[in-house]
Amino acid sequence: MFNGNNSNPRFGIETKPDARDFLPKRKEYSSFEERKRTFEGWPVVFLTAERLAAAGFWYLGEGDRVRCFFCGGGVRNWLPEDDPMSEHRRIFPTCGFVSMATENGDEQLQSINIKKANKSRL
Ligand SMILES: [Zn+2]
Repeated sequence: MFNGNNSNPRFGIETKPDARDFLPKRKEYSSFEERKRTFEGWPVVFLTAERLAAAGFWYLGEGDRVRCFFCGGGVRNWLPEDDPMSEHRRIFPTCGFVSMATENGDEQLQSINIKKANKSRL
């Protein structure tokens, strides 16, 4: 009788389908270059700023703490065997950046998709 009721409860609230998951928390770090720039003084020798920035992280400037510009998720205590993108995906599987990266392949993510994401907001 009321067929709107048994549809997916997660989408019960009317909103643009990707409004929540596709807005970065820190827009200023949407670009790979901006994120990479935060890694000044980064102390972890086995993980490069490039790899972390490519995985969406920017450096908080303290210990080995990084944060995802998109979901805002923080990661620290990095280990030599860690792959930044895999860790990101494992710890914050709902991150919009991670989902986009997964869809498009890890290598070519960076700013292209983010620009698209920002655009859809306008
Ligand atoms: Zn994230």
